[in-house]
Amino acid sequence: MSKPHYQTMGQQFGRRSWAEPWKIKMVEPIRMISREAREQAAAEAGYNTFLLRSEDVYIDLLTDSGTSAMSDRQWAGIMLGDEAYAGSRNFYHLEEAIQTYYGYKYVIPTHQGRGAEHLISQAVIQKGDFIPGNMYFTTTRLHQELAGGTFVDVIIDEAHDPTSQHPFKGNVNLDKLQALVDRVGAENIPYVSLAGTVNMAGGQPVSMANVKALREFCDRHGIRIYLDATRMYENCFFIQEREEGYGDKSIAEILKEFCSYTDGAWMSAKKDNLVNIGGWLAVNHADVAEKARNMVVVYEGLHTYGGMAGRDMEALAIGIAEGVQDDQVAARVRQVRYLGKLLLDWGIPIVEPIGGHAIFLDAKRFYPHIPQDQFPSQTLAAQLYLDSGVRSMERGIVSAGRDPKTGDHRYPALELTRLTIPRRVYTQAHMDVVAESIKAVYDQREQTRGLKMVYEPEYLRFFQARFEML
Ligand SMILES: *Cc1c(COP(=O)(O)O)cnc(C)c1O
Repeated sequence: MSKPHYQTMGQQFGRRSWAEPWKIKMVEPIRMISREAREQAAAEAGYNTFLLRSEDVYIDLLTDSGTSAMSDRQWAGIMLGDEAYAGSRNFYHLEEAIQTYYGYKYVIPTHQGRGAEHLISQAVIQKGDFIPGNMYFTTTRLHQELAGGTFVDVIIDEAHDPTSQHPFKGNVNLDKLQALVDRVGAENIPYVSLAGTVNMAGGQPVSMANVKALREFCDRHGIRIYLDATRMYENCFFIQEREEGYGDKSIAEILKEFCSYTDGAWMSAKKDNLVNIGGWLAVNHADVAEKARNMVVVYEGLHTYGGMAGRDMEALAIGIAEGVQDDQVAARVRQVRYLGKLLLDWGIPIVEPIGGHAIFLDAKRFYPHIPQDQFPSQTLAAQLYLDSGVRSMERGIVSAGRDPKTGDHRYPALELTRLTIPRRVYTQAHMDVVAESIKAVYDQREQTRGLKMVYEPEYLRFFQARFEML
């Protein structure tokens, strides 16, 4: 896998503009409903953007999960679905794509990322185990807890500081990991849960040097490393851009090297792999693969479809190869950066450095007068919707949930509102509209009041909680 023979505009012409490496062949009309209608929709949704109807949303930046635009080739792949119950040819295409680009040996398809998290957690975690990781992710940690484990955050301190300019804020702090090993013993740590482009830290990458050092550490202690590969393409873009010795390597080459330091990965294919539904687990150890295959038939479907239709697996196999192309990843990250730079120019507080898949508004600095238990980032997401019909989401105290022991809210250092950019969906003009709406909400920040939670579900409360305005 050598560097592709085409060049970006920047490489060819120096300081010229870049543009997306695709053109639009089919469009989906969208519209902004009236202010009055937005007020009604927001109140009916309990000021939770997850509970809005998508028809009432204008520009939808709720998530980049399953919201990508597929290519003409992927749609052509949909027509080539082999819907046999067992041994579909599309499964073998998928298996080959994962082995080629990620380099793992055994592939188990799942309906989406959390299906794979469920399998790996149940396969390798024993009750009472500790699972260190570079910041929690909602579904990942929940599956680790449901398997009887306790998640321990071992990310570097800079990750919790939205103003730190550290280039690799996703890195693991090996001293924190050592302290955990000393406290609980390596035999009670089945694996390190490592994520690329750490979502909850604002889309921040892990360096190659860090994963290499982590591998050495884990080899010394007999601990495995499993990777949340959901946004590894973007992580590899940052390595290419920022890390010595990788500027001339393709993202595909960087990905293969990074994965080689880990023992396996789970994937929400709804993100980097450019499909609307799908996921997979891939591991290098035969015993773990066997356990996961035994479980996949109980919870997902046969081990050659794991909850996906044959056509879904074909689109996914094509998406894996398309998504990893240098120009594809560069255009994606640069679009995110374009939006972030507009906001920074206007002095609006966001997490820096600008991450790979989203802009994170720093709600603590945006609304310094709203206490954390009045949900500043939930408030900001609601205000943004009211202003323009732009949908964002909360990543703060609501997402963090309650401590299972004390029953109190967890009070995360980061209180963020996330604007996640779907891949290949919106244009620069949409980004301008979004930025102007955020500016309008920012200009009214002093008059804005917080929220009160009036309904709280037991699990992953951010999805379905309801609020009232104070
Ligand atoms: C989305 C996501 C998951 C869960 O995957 P689903 O496909 O939504 O089930 C896990 N980890 C990360 C980092 C994610 O972004």
